[in-house]
Amino acid sequence: MRYVMTLKNTENEIFNSDSFAHMAFQNDLVGHIILNYESSLLTANRKMFEYFNLPSYDISGFKFGDAFKCINSMNISCGMSDKCSNCQIMKSFLRIQCCEEKSDGLTVDYTCLLNGEPETKWFKLYGNTFYLQEDKYAIITLVDISDEQNRILHIEELLKLDLATGVKNKYSLMDSITEQLAELGQGNHFVIAMIDFDCFKDINDSYGHIMGDKVLIEFSNIILQNISPIDIVGRYGGEEFVILFNNLTLQEAVCVLQKTHMELKCVFKDIIEQAVTFSGGAMLVDDTFVGENKSTDIINKVDKLLYKAKKNGRNRLITTFEEYILN
Ligand code: GH3
Ligand code: MG
Ligand code: MG
Repeated sequence: MRYVMTLKNTENEIFNSDSFAHMAFQNDLVGHIILNYESSLLTANRKMFEYFNLPSYDISGFKFGDAFKCINSMNISCGMSDKCSNCQIMKSFLRIQCCEEKSDGLTVDYTCLLNGEPETKWFKLYGNTFYLQEDKYAIITLVDISDEQNRILHIEELLKLDLATGVKNKYSLMDSITEQLAELGQGNHFVIAMIDFDCFKDINDSYGHIMGDKVLIEFSNIILQNISPIDIVGRYGGEEFVILFNNLTLQEAVCVLQKTHMELKCVFKDIIEQAVTFSGGAMLVDDTFVGENKSTDIINKVDKLLYKAKKNGRNRLITTFEEYILN
């Protein structure tokens, strides 16, 4: 929504003139906006409109979100939605204008409608205030760093993965378990399972390590297909994986593991002479674990069940209550 605003003569002179300063402002390769004391826009240079794929138009009197299509200002004015209290752009405008705090390159994200689709853009925001004939203004510079930021976010996501199999690596797996433990209570629970391939060394010895790798990749693909998006799979070590089933019962989680075991065995039945099998331990983690257990304690407990499954003859799942021979 636009607030009717009459430009003062001094402002008119600056923004509507063919002055050298105005031309330099318009043609700069990064975005600039000028705000009045109420954080309303007076003007923006050409680059600002390019950032948002908009034609240049008169934005004097607009708030930032209204002028540049903030996703939260679609049906309501900029600053009026519940989500606006978290807006980093408006918060930095306030700090710059009210506290006269210079901003030397704060990274902010901004989700807007770009070509009709929601898209998050990332900016480095710099700002400073200045006075002209007793009136206070702020000049804000926005440098679009979306490409670099998205590359960083992508790399950060890759760093959480075991690149050989595409499941989480040990460190992000342990972080995820810690997060899930923190969310226990209020009826939340999960089942944790740890599996280890049986006689995997024999597969490597007979068919080579590349074949061993294929088994691990195939297992990861199958388990990822069999679990829900809120579940977690991670590679704990060489041929050991941990699966966290969110809000499933122990019996339901066992069913998913049995199905995975059967499908994996099927894939390799004509390729590897010995049956490809695994053993596993599984247990329910519920309210009784609140506040007492760390991720390492949980792994220790489920590891003991896995050890028992190996000791009892492999190719089986052992839970806190039962033993299931796998087919
Ligand atoms: P058990 O049934 O007692 O678990 O026997 P095992 O042979 O599976 O266990 P062991 O600990 O003796 O050997 C595990 C093997 O897994 C040895 C190791 O080389 C292999 N391994 C670990 N990581 C990988 C991997 O990324 N690729 C391949 N191909 N093999 C791996
Ligand atoms: Mg093994
Ligand atoms: Mg092992």
